[in-house]
Amino acid sequence: MFQGSAYPASGAALWSLLVAAPIIGSFLGVVIRRLPAGRPLLWSRSSCEKCGHPLAARDLVPLFGWLLAKGRCRYCGERLGWFYPAVELAALAIAVLALAVDGGGRAWLDSLFGWWLLALGWIDLRRWILPDVLTLPLILSGLLEAALFNARALPWRALGAALGYLSLIAIAFLYRRLRGREGLGEGDAKLLAASGAWVGAAALPSVVFVAALGALLSAFLFIRKRPLEAETPLPFGAFLALATWLVWLFGPLAF
Ligand SMILES: [Zn+2]
Repeated sequence: MFQGSAYPASGAALWSLLVAAPIIGSFLGVVIRRLPAGRPLLWSRSSCEKCGHPLAARDLVPLFGWLLAKGRCRYCGERLGWFYPAVELAALAIAVLALAVDGGGRAWLDSLFGWWLLALGWIDLRRWILPDVLTLPLILSGLLEAALFNARALPWRALGAALGYLSLIAIAFLYRRLRGREGLGEGDAKLLAASGAWVGAAALPSVVFVAALGALLSAFLFIRKRPLEAETPLPFGAFLALATWLVWLFGPLAF
């Protein structure tokens, strides 16, 4: 959905992106685990979470480290779990999809945006929070991206940020009045503001529609597994994050 060509395309951008993606995914795994807990962020894990044995460089090679050790710690034999390889794989999938859709230099921007949203969505999935330290910079960077590369879109992006925030605050208010409890949080509103700052005001309805559809589908699948109580919190931010990136990449729906 990109008009104009402020981004250079090159083979170097392509290969560097594919090599960097799993490594950045590995860092995102650390961010997803540590940031909501208020623990200091390190570039990578330093020791096994089960036995505490310091990890060597070969244990930390994204995807391959896990595969070579057959998903178990080399020191204590405990299962390592699928979390880190899953985040690394998701980060790689984002880069591959970005390259397939936009190619060259622009895919780096798509991927950086996608990785940021991946961390946000995954944190919401695990903890039902969307930290300000991740949502607020995303609002600013969306406006900055417009100012640098797409100045004509800047007013629409700024309007998108304002409308995104206000519309979700309004929905949350109505929900509270109707149901007498919290349904959406302030974090969701800030995330939709970030979404508006990146995709612009006109594409916001598409983001909300795709996110709501995703949330409904997974609620339906979840109900089939175990009865869903109305109180079960749904991490709507995770669906907003996914929908935002898809609309950014493929453009808004044609209603
Ligand atoms: Zn261990």
